Formats: sequence, C-alpha cells, structure tokens
Amino acid sequence: MSEFIPNPTPRPTNYLDEQFWEHCANGILCFQCCTECETWRHIPRFMCASCGSENWGWRQSHGRGTVYSWTVCHMPMSPEFEQIFPYAVLVVEMEEGVRITAGLREMDYKDLEIGLPVEVVFESLETGGKLPFFRPRKD
Ligand SMILES: [Zn+2]
Repeated sequence: MSEFIPNPTPRPTNYLDEQFWEHCANGILCFQCCTECETWRHIPRFMCASCGSENWGWRQSHGRGTVYSWTVCHMPMSPEFEQIFPYAVLVVEMEEGVRITAGLREMDYKDLEIGLPVEVVFESLETGGKLPFFRPRKD
C-alpha cells in the first residue's frame, strides 16, 4: 500500500453532486443514466443532453475504462498536493461512455499512454468519505 496522501474534501454545490459523492463514500462509482433513452452522463446534471428527459436514475459503473487524456501538474493547485507534485490528472473514458477526471495511482505518469486500460480505486479521506482514483487494470 502506498503512503497516505491527504486529499482535498469534495464540496458539492447541489444535491446531485452530493449523491455522487455519497456513492463514492461507500466505495461505489455511480453515474446518472437517462431512463428514457438509456444515455449515461457525468458530471451530474438535471436533464439528459441526448433527449431532454428529466427522468433518470443512478447506475453503478463497472469501474473500468481507458485513458482518454491526461495532464501533469508541476505546481500544486492545493496545499494537500504539495507532498506529491508533479502528479497526473487523468480523463478516463469509462466503459459506460462517460468521461471522468481523477488522479492516477500505482503507476508513474511517465509511463502513461492513450488507451491504457484502467480501473477505479478509492482512497479514504481524513475527513470521511472517499475519492476515486484510477490505476492500471490488472486483468
Ligand atoms: Zn435521454
């Protein structure tokens, strides 16, 4: 196991974000899915961008995806990150078709490649709750 790295606590601004982070706190990655046209979406929002429906539900993600893109932060954007920079922030394309931004774990960012298979892993926050990160897939 890697050394403990402090992370900033999410600050949801609406109840959809709150629900997203509540699922994460339980170690489950969930995204919204439109119940009219079955289109998954992220970040959380009130209406389907595909069909305009306001009917939706939370569905559990398989937690697997591929690296769509990334950036390497050479300056810490938050005091919590001063111990770990430079660090990579990934855009992961999930199997469900949505993209999520999260940090990289268990791999040197110098070895990243577009299309690399990754899986979600959760880390506990000192303040309670958990944050999703991605690591290379082991299967
Ligand atoms: Zn829809």
